[in-house]
Amino acid sequence: MKKSMSVLAMMLLILLSACSNEEQEQILHGQTMGTTWLVKYIGSPSIQQQVIQRHLDQFNQTMSTYIENSELSQVNRAPVRQWLVISDKLAKIIQLSLEISKNTEGAFDITVGKAVNYWGFGAGQENIEPTKQEIGYQYIRLDGNRLYKEKNIYLDLSAIAKGYAVDETAKLLENAQINRYLVEIGGEIVAKGKNKKQQFWTIAIEKPDPMQRMIMQTIELTNQAIASSGSYRNFKQKNGKIISHTIDPKTAKPIKHNVIASSVIANSAAVADAYATAFMVLPVSASISISDKQNFSTLIVTGKMGDNSTFKKYYSTHFEQKYVSK
Ligand code: ADP
Ligand code: MG
Repeated sequence: MKKSMSVLAMMLLILLSACSNEEQEQILHGQTMGTTWLVKYIGSPSIQQQVIQRHLDQFNQTMSTYIENSELSQVNRAPVRQWLVISDKLAKIIQLSLEISKNTEGAFDITVGKAVNYWGFGAGQENIEPTKQEIGYQYIRLDGNRLYKEKNIYLDLSAIAKGYAVDETAKLLENAQINRYLVEIGGEIVAKGKNKKQQFWTIAIEKPDPMQRMIMQTIELTNQAIASSGSYRNFKQKNGKIISHTIDPKTAKPIKHNVIASSVIANSAAVADAYATAFMVLPVSASISISDKQNFSTLIVTGKMGDNSTFKKYYSTHFEQKYVSK
């Protein structure tokens, strides 16, 4: 009797330790794309930091304009009016970018690179201000793995690459049989399953205040992605005026209106990332109607940067239902 009790106790102990093992949270982090990456997952260690780092480094070697011999830099230097053979990876992200350009009346446009460089927010040097005729996604064509540049445009994937890399990292975790995780690169996030407390992952949306970091809203996220865009961290000032790093492709100049931040919750981080940038460019009404059509949960803040009393929030239907009117 005594013996069987101790066997039972042992089994219980093993079971308990198996359970607590399962609730172990693993945290990995590193640097990529001029910012940081973070992966949290629940379970025993099953993927190494170096595996994720290598994967992100390879991704950067394709997409970055900051790496001189990256595939994208080579495409940017390639002559115009010739079909160029590009990798599957690059073709996929350009394909998605072109789709999003079409869905946002051209507000999201990866051909803004020259203007980004001219206004001092890019990797390249541009001394002459580009005209609006030098920007436009219609000047590139994609046919499977072949790309054609009709004009000498400069492609910049910065507004979608972080989100895309988040999605790719999530796939890496899924392949390692991890299904409760959070992946974050520079504020763009995807979350799946529940955290170690058996709750959905809590994400804070920041107040668009350049002076301090404060939480504007917290949301519970699972099986979805969130990305935010804003002019309140990365901007320049000239003669007292704020110059945003977001370019309006229609004018080839930094945006001027009063949208100061946008957050988008969607099924993929790449999609959320790109639309969050588009919503910095478009009038609020257009962004909300696109969000409702695409079933995004979107939050947009307008106002005067630096004057919190002028802030006004706008929500898409899903955002309002899920996170506001409770
Ligand atoms: P944010 O957090 O504001 O979205 P990102 O780094 O994700 O910041 O995106 C901003 C970057 O995207 C800019 O620095 C520029 O390289 C690029 N960009 C600017 N305007 C546009 C645009 N209209 N469409 C696509 N990319 C843009
Ligand atoms: Mg973005």
